[in-house]
Amino acid sequence: MIVDPVCGTDLDHFEYPQREDYNGYTFFFGSLGCAQKFRENPAKYVAGREAEFGEKIPDYVEKIS
Ligand SMILES: [Zn+2]
Repeated sequence: MIVDPVCGTDLDHFEYPQREDYNGYTFFFGSLGCAQKFRENPAKYVAGREAEFGEKIPDYVEKIS
């Protein structure tokens, strides 16, 4: 299940074009506003909980954006 870490929205049934990579994980957002908040201070939203909200980026694609 994908959850927007900023507002807590369950994104299962959404398209989520807004995404940000942080600390080896990709996070998804329901809106540009949430993505921007996250970008300003990602640690505030997911510090220590990356695995809970994010999707792990495999090492072999880490350099591809
Ligand atoms: Zn949101």
